[in-house]
Amino acid sequence: MRVVNFSAGPAMLPTVVMERAQAEFCDYKGTGCGVMEHSHRGPLFDEILARAIGNVREILGVSDAYDVVFIQGGASMQFAMIPMNFMKPGGYAEFADTGTWSSKAMKEAKLFGEVKVIASSKEDKYKYIPAFDTWQPSTAEASYLHITSNNTIYGTQYRDFPTANSPMIADMSSDIMSRRFDMNKFAMVYAGAQKNLGPSGLALCIIRKDLIARTPANVPTMLRYETYTANNSLYNTPPTYGIYMLALVTDWIREIGGIDAIEKINDAKAAALYSAIDASEGYYNCPVRPDSRSRMNVVFRLPNEELEAKFVKEAKAAGMIGLKGHRSVGGIRASIYNAVPMEGVEKLVNFMNDFKKANG
Ligand SMILES: *Cc1c(COP(=O)(O)O)cnc(C)c1O
Repeated sequence: MRVVNFSAGPAMLPTVVMERAQAEFCDYKGTGCGVMEHSHRGPLFDEILARAIGNVREILGVSDAYDVVFIQGGASMQFAMIPMNFMKPGGYAEFADTGTWSSKAMKEAKLFGEVKVIASSKEDKYKYIPAFDTWQPSTAEASYLHITSNNTIYGTQYRDFPTANSPMIADMSSDIMSRRFDMNKFAMVYAGAQKNLGPSGLALCIIRKDLIARTPANVPTMLRYETYTANNSLYNTPPTYGIYMLALVTDWIREIGGIDAIEKINDAKAAALYSAIDASEGYYNCPVRPDSRSRMNVVFRLPNEELEAKFVKEAKAAGMIGLKGHRSVGGIRASIYNAVPMEGVEKLVNFMNDFKKANG
């Protein structure tokens, strides 16, 4: 029996996708072997790769001005690849510091140039996204501006995006394909796959073509974006099974109606959960400012840590896992990515109401 999995990542995948993968695990389309065992240079994998890319383009409305590539090493590898490729000689990059992942991206960028923080909510424990009119204006000389669209640990999310003067790059690891956004505002968008797209280890990178020429000559082959864009992600052996799973997940998004349909469901899920928190008269307390609340990672506290531990334990016994908050912040975190169904959220809401009655 499958549980409701509220883990932050690797996270729940749609059950129909898991079943489809299972059905073709040993024998993909009558070939007598599984996807994992097929050559990455054969027609079978060509079709899978083309389908994955085509789905990404369709779902996110990615124009021909961008390349869509898959790179190993997860989102964290991108923290280093971005400055390696795009930091201008002697240049600097601008960052909005909205949490742990932004900070990790800054740490890598500092190895290749200067980092200027133009917006930050660090002093307020990252409990909101700084209003755009408070940002120190982005300048045209910056190599790029980096933002984190959804802060997986702190449970904050951009409602919309600033208009930047320099190329804007977003880490969308924990909310990609959860809602509509205008790709044309961005020079690059990237995401580790394990939240909304598939298995861990794989990063989806969507890169505007004009940026590719910037890479300095001394960046090693496997760390150059051009290696991936010029070879359609097939310079070396790519993580074929991860790309296959991403193709299945994106097939599923298209089948249920695409980005607008998934956004509507996500909005309903988040509304149900935040309503339960707000209706609890402070028993459940969300530390995030209401205008910055994430629709993917819903964080909240109980009156004390003992009750939080009891909550996690009893939820698990009731078939709901992954609710413990990140070790750096504590509390409870319900990650309600695309694959978590509305029924799963309703089950959690009922559990929360019952738990409060029994322990209030
Ligand atoms: C999970 C996550 C990452 C790290 O992804 P890895 O694939 O483990 O490197 C980076 N940024 C954000 C916003 C995340 O949620």
